Formats: sequence, structure tokens, C-alpha cells
Amino acid sequence: MQTTQIRLARRPVGEPQDDDFETTTVELPELQDGQILVRAVYLSLDPYMRGRMSEARSYAAPLEIGDVVLGQTVCEVLESTVPQRAPGDLVLAYTGWQTHAVVDARQVRRLDPDAAPVSTALGVLGMPGFTAYAGLLEIGRPAEGETVVVAAAAGPVGSAVGQIAKLKGARAVGIAGGADKTRLLTEEFGFDVALDHRSATFTDDLRAATPDGVDVYFENVAGPVGEAVLRRMNTYGRVPVCGLVANYNATSAPDSALGFPSFMNLVLTRSLTVRGFIQDEFAPTHTEAFRRDMTPWVADGTIRYREDVVEGLENAVDAFRGLLAGRNVGKLLIKVS
Ligand code: NAP
Repeated sequence: MQTTQIRLARRPVGEPQDDDFETTTVELPELQDGQILVRAVYLSLDPYMRGRMSEARSYAAPLEIGDVVLGQTVCEVLESTVPQRAPGDLVLAYTGWQTHAVVDARQVRRLDPDAAPVSTALGVLGMPGFTAYAGLLEIGRPAEGETVVVAAAAGPVGSAVGQIAKLKGARAVGIAGGADKTRLLTEEFGFDVALDHRSATFTDDLRAATPDGVDVYFENVAGPVGEAVLRRMNTYGRVPVCGLVANYNATSAPDSALGFPSFMNLVLTRSLTVRGFIQDEFAPTHTEAFRRDMTPWVADGTIRYREDVVEGLENAVDAFRGLLAGRNVGKLLIKVS
């Protein structure tokens, strides 16, 4: 059995280029006891992957040159050496940007296709949905009548943040790029207001959309959008710092109109709680509640989601570039086979 893999050929500088990756086909090893052979059905593309391609110090070790690019997948079991997994089973695995893999059977989780479409295990019912749920409820703690603002609001994290905020009785203001996405925010995801961060009037629009200030800013993007929202924070506001996607392709220190002294002045004078997090830290404490709440919410349509499915592993690099530039609408997935 062979697998076709996309490996890191060199570290991208700025926006990832085709030549930063190489595609190879290699033989897979023989199955050993305890292992299963799988083929990838869906590959999740996520912004964090850009950080792993760089050498900069982060919360996890970077990829080495020549490594298969990492990523979570939904796979079909083709062969198994363990009674708990049978050919045809669909599993959540971590096989990266490749078509097939041999993995330890204990490292995969079986998915029930009757409970929810299996692709949702990579989105609204998976890591991005969990990030929104845990980060918003644990750090953001939205209360009834408060104003919650989130950017990248058409993506899997932001769309779940807005909808969970609404379920908690808050007012949800979503920020996204372009008219199609802002329409989606109000018409599909139920945000109270949607703002286009590419509009020349964005700062004025934000002021008009938050007449009572901002109580929770769920930070997904940073850059000018983040700075504009921070200036609107109320006393005792909470800022779960989830991601800084505006900076992921940066080749030098990003410009800041706000600046560090003014930022610290805001934190002090408005008694802000600014708390970064990586979703794994909440796995032990929030997984059970997440599954208990989110599974029925998604099943009965209380929480809606969008997927952006790109066909073919050969299109992964281009789709990944698009993710960082805002070309995706909803959770970006590669349909591998
Ligand atoms: P996503 O929303 O599907 O994709 C990223 C989006 O960011 C793009 O579609 C684009 O949407 C927006 N964007 C890119 N550059 C921007 C800019 N300069 N200004 C404003 N918006 C910009 O991604 P996601 O998977 O839901 O992730 C959202 C954020 O959560 C990312 O920062 C990610 O790193 C973070 N995250 C963190 C954790 C954690 O554990 N801390 C876990 C998962 C995700 P527009 O077209 O709307 O601009």
C-alpha cells in the first residue's frame, strides 16, 4: 500500500508558496499488532498550521523540514489488527496531509455517522467548536444583555462563538470580510449585527454597532480590527485571546496604531481581563459539557455551521493560502478521497 504525502520542503516566508512543499508517494510499512491501515476521507486545514511551519518559539514544536504537514483527519479503516476497529469504520485521526497511513488503533476515536455528519468532527463538533465553547464560556463568561464581539466570525470558531453568546442571552456582533460573509452572519448564524472589516467605514460602523461598549471581545485576528475593538471595551471587559490570524504570515513586527503603552493603559484603567489560551488546556475540564451541550444543539439546528469543502489533496496548499487570506467561507476541509 502506498500513500501520497505533502511534506514541508522549506519554511515559508510570508504567504506560503507552492515550492515550500513537496508531494511524494511512498510505501507504507507492514501493519503491526495494535495498528490499523486507514485512508483519509477529510483533512482539516486550520490556521495554527502556519505557526508549525515556522521556527519561531510557540506552544508546540515546529515541523522539521521533510515532515509530512500535520493535521487532523476523518479516515476510513481499511485493515485492522484489533477487534475494536473493523474495515469500514470511520475514525478521527491525526494523519496529516496524506492519503493513507498506518496508525496505532488507540490513537483514533470511532465516529458514529448516524449521530452527525462525520465531517463535523473536524469543525463544529470538533476542535474549532470546542475552542469557541471553552474559550467563550470559561474566559469570556458572557452574561445576559452583554455585548460580545468576534472577528473571523464566518469561520468555525467565530460562528460558534456568536451563536453560543446568543444562547447565553448576549448581543452578538460579528466581523468578517466582505458582503457575502456579513450576510451569512446575520441570516444564517443569527448575529445581531455584522460588520465588514474591509469597509472604509469599519471603525464608525463598529462604534454604531456597540453603543453600550463591548463586554467580551473574543480575539481571533489581532491587527487593526483587534485594536479597534479593544478601544471599545467596557470596564471589567474580558478578552479571550484565541488567535492572531492577521499576523500569521507577517515577515516583520506588525504595525500597531494602538501601541503597547496605550494597550496597557486600557487594561489598567478599564480593569480588563486579557487571557490567552490553547484549547487543549480545557480538554480535561470542558469536554464532557461540550459534548453534552453542542451535540444536541447541532442536531436540532440551534447551532448552525458552514463547511467549505475543497476536492483533492493536491489543492491543499492553495486552499491553505486562501484560509489565511479569508477565501474560505466556513470550516475549511479537504475531501481527500
Ligand atoms: P477561519 O475563521 O476559518 O479562517 C481564518 C479567517 O480569518 C479568514 O477566513 C479571514 O476571514 C480571517 N482573517 C484573516 N486575516 C484577517 C485580518 N487581517 N483581519 C481580520 N480577519 C482576518 O479560522 P478558524 O479555524 O475559525 O480560526 C479562527 C482563529 O482561532 C484563528 O486565529 C485560529 O488560529 C484560532 N484558533 C485558536 C485555537 C486555540 O486553541 N487558541 C484553536 C483553534 C483556532 P474574513 O474573510 O472574515 O476576514
